[in-house]
Amino acid sequence: MQPRGTNNRMPTTLIRNADIVIAWDAGTKTHAYMPNADVAFDSGALTFVGRDYQGPVDETIDGAGKMVMPGLVDIHSHPSSEPMNKGLIDEIGSPGFYNSSLYEYLPIFRADAEAIPHCVRVALSELLLSGVTTLADLSMAHPGWLDLLAESGMRVCVAPMFRSARWYTKNGHMIEYAWDETAGEKSMAEALTLIDRAEQHPSGRLFGMVVPAQIDTCTETLLRDSFAEAKARGLSWQIHAAQSVSEFHEITRRHGYTPIGWLDHLGLLSERSIVGHGIFLDDHPSTRWHTTTDLARLAETGTTVAHCPTVFARRGITLQDFGRYRRAGVNMGVGTDTYPHNMLDELRLASYLARTQAGNPRTLNSTDLFEAATIGGAHALGRDDIGRLAPGCRADLVLVDVTHPMMRPAHDPVRSLIYAAGDRAVRAVYVDGQKVVENGQMLTMDYPAAAAALHEAQARVKANVPKLDWNHRTAEQISPPTFQTV
Ligand SMILES: [Zn+2]
Repeated sequence: MQPRGTNNRMPTTLIRNADIVIAWDAGTKTHAYMPNADVAFDSGALTFVGRDYQGPVDETIDGAGKMVMPGLVDIHSHPSSEPMNKGLIDEIGSPGFYNSSLYEYLPIFRADAEAIPHCVRVALSELLLSGVTTLADLSMAHPGWLDLLAESGMRVCVAPMFRSARWYTKNGHMIEYAWDETAGEKSMAEALTLIDRAEQHPSGRLFGMVVPAQIDTCTETLLRDSFAEAKARGLSWQIHAAQSVSEFHEITRRHGYTPIGWLDHLGLLSERSIVGHGIFLDDHPSTRWHTTTDLARLAETGTTVAHCPTVFARRGITLQDFGRYRRAGVNMGVGTDTYPHNMLDELRLASYLARTQAGNPRTLNSTDLFEAATIGGAHALGRDDIGRLAPGCRADLVLVDVTHPMMRPAHDPVRSLIYAAGDRAVRAVYVDGQKVVENGQMLTMDYPAAAAALHEAQARVKANVPKLDWNHRTAEQISPPTFQTV
């Protein structure tokens, strides 16, 4: 970017007199509503958040009718695979695996190599349109991944998954593990190289996280080594654990510990550890192990839980409950494990599930939700320069139309956004000071074209299902249509 104006300074963009700014209050370490305020940024960083900005300005955005809020931080997502599952896994869960879809269905609806870029473009577009500016992309490495992420304009924590075993089933009620320890170690080495490349990517918006994919598919050595690598590199470390009853039983059978207990025993819970999804603790009604220490260990070790309610709610499963975890002192982050990739929808569902599980509407509130989706996630990723609007932080911000009919009345704009308007009121999104969404439309990626290509690709994937399914069923037999075709 060429410096303009005098003194060779970088051009400054000013959002002048926004109706409301969600500003960071450094004193209380919380967000605060600041009416009639200005936000200025240059070269990707915020330079001013307050009232009556008097500094240089090169571009002015009229803040009338707008709420300026920090971009949301999504700490758990699978953009390269999940968009393919739409219509197929909405209403299915394996009866033989306590209704999880992981073991029987995940492997058979996989996007092929040609479809992966369409999946990624669809997911990232939907996320940006719902106000996400930072995303943890947990995927198996695929060609062109980093450039594709950079193309989106998003800030992405590149999280290549690796493991020592893959799942399969021969009968729909028993999980088999095909172990290849050497392949797991090689895959970890490749993941670390990719993370290095991400950190050096010219976009400057990519960074990394170490992700042994699942607690039951990694050897103890791979778990320990990956954690040591993450620690040595100052990176976050994430693992899927306590995500199904079958996995809970598998880990107790192997080790005599619950999944959380096993991670704790190995010393893998920490301030930089993220557990996706941390549902099946020792005191969950579906497990009832003889201990009741898992929740406290998550809290005491500073571990973050990546809460992704939609993908589990589909199968009648949920965390017990978001508010209880918060009160116990667990750092909560939010993810969009599945489609629709809509962070605001995810927050609304998180709220309602917590209240119904707790049988108590006071178990959590919109402050808890907004914090989890901003500073909670940022903390888990080891970043204090995102998820908040303060001078010196990255200029990752969202402009919400507070005059949108679904935002009205706006007694409390964050509640109007989460509980009513959702992504419909998101007008513009900036990442690192660059505009990536304008008038509710993507500027960086062709979302409709990617979605159309995905529709074509799903026909290919469906045709392949009988070859991959243990019982050679068609996609229609596994996931019967809503109505018969006549
Ligand atoms: Zn996941």
